[in-house]
Amino acid sequence: MSVASSRLAIHSSPITVTFLGTASAMPSSTRNHSSLAVRLGSDVWLFDCGEATQHQIQKSTVKMGKIEKVYITHTHGDHIFGLIPLLAGCLNGNGGIAGGAEDPRESINTDKPHLEIYGPLGTRAYVRNALTYTHTLLSRPFVVHELRFPFDPQSGDYTALPRHPSESPLGKNISQVGGVWQDVYKDEIVSVSAAPILHSVPCIGYTLTEAPVPGKIDPKKYIPGIKRTNTPLSVMRQLQAGESVRLSDGTVLQGPKPRVGRKIVILGDTYDPSPMIPIAENADLLIHEATNAHLPGLVSNTRDDDTYESVQKTAMERGHSTPQMAGSFAKRVNASSLILNHFSARYPGNDDVDPEAKMIMDAIGSLAAVEFGRPVVCARDLMSVDIRIPPVDH
Ligand SMILES: [Zn+2]
Ligand SMILES: [Zn+2]
Repeated sequence: MSVASSRLAIHSSPITVTFLGTASAMPSSTRNHSSLAVRLGSDVWLFDCGEATQHQIQKSTVKMGKIEKVYITHTHGDHIFGLIPLLAGCLNGNGGIAGGAEDPRESINTDKPHLEIYGPLGTRAYVRNALTYTHTLLSRPFVVHELRFPFDPQSGDYTALPRHPSESPLGKNISQVGGVWQDVYKDEIVSVSAAPILHSVPCIGYTLTEAPVPGKIDPKKYIPGIKRTNTPLSVMRQLQAGESVRLSDGTVLQGPKPRVGRKIVILGDTYDPSPMIPIAENADLLIHEATNAHLPGLVSNTRDDDTYESVQKTAMERGHSTPQMAGSFAKRVNASSLILNHFSARYPGNDDVDPEAKMIMDAIGSLAAVEFGRPVVCARDLMSVDIRIPPVDH
């Protein structure tokens, strides 16, 4: 199936987001390091790939073989340590051949469709160095595109190592224009733009936008007029695109108005994502970190002198957000829904089975909801949500 035809199916199906890991710096028995999968039709795009993402995929309904793109928000280990094993796993890269026998992976055709990786400066060097020094050969090619900040070198690979045998030479270095990286990926149906978000290291937020969805056309409404005036049937194409057509007798046919496509905003670690505002407004779903919360009486290691202000100050100093900060950003960009992720290890992720954990996560959700003005969901590992096309424009 071509990219275009497989993408077309997206318009008529839910976009599914599966949280593979929802922990911050320290993973726990109930939360893995950061990663989430977005399923677009049959394709899978990953956002971040923390340690053991491959294991989480195996526990989920996400198919390894369908991973087409990986978007990295920043190169902190809890967001990228799982990338090399993931590449080895889904591009058949484990093991070597001893005794000088030929390994077909030594000379791979990098013109074949490749797995695309997007990330900040250092992503390419990290992947290339890690694959090279671990003697990992892959049976499919990959390419790394880097989103370069204005203070980064705008060209070059940031490593003296030559390209890995499976690495395509087509890796782009994409400069910011007007504060954003517009359409780093774009096809007829979906596009991805990005913008910086403030963290302790260079960090990127991504917006995935679906193109306008063609309205349902009812031929019965148009055929009589088209026949009466001997108009070529090819005008149906214009009508399907939502355009109006004037027939020879003066009748004007109006095609169904396309509906606004879905928009998903996925942030990495941040204490201030405001540079995302131009590309984050009116999202159907915003995914925002909420690493630290002030939960006196609920979390046992709350210190007596902790206040909301002191917790927020500490969170921000470490480059992170509280639930209230996430809630107010969601309101500011007029998001339709908000899901929190990237939780401190002190907030357990088994709130579906443990009433105490549920109390904590409900409290975190409520803190964000007060600012947002709508209910807020706290992500749990392996939780999936479907984003459907709203029935009317919004
Ligand atoms: Zn993190
Ligand atoms: Zn980080």
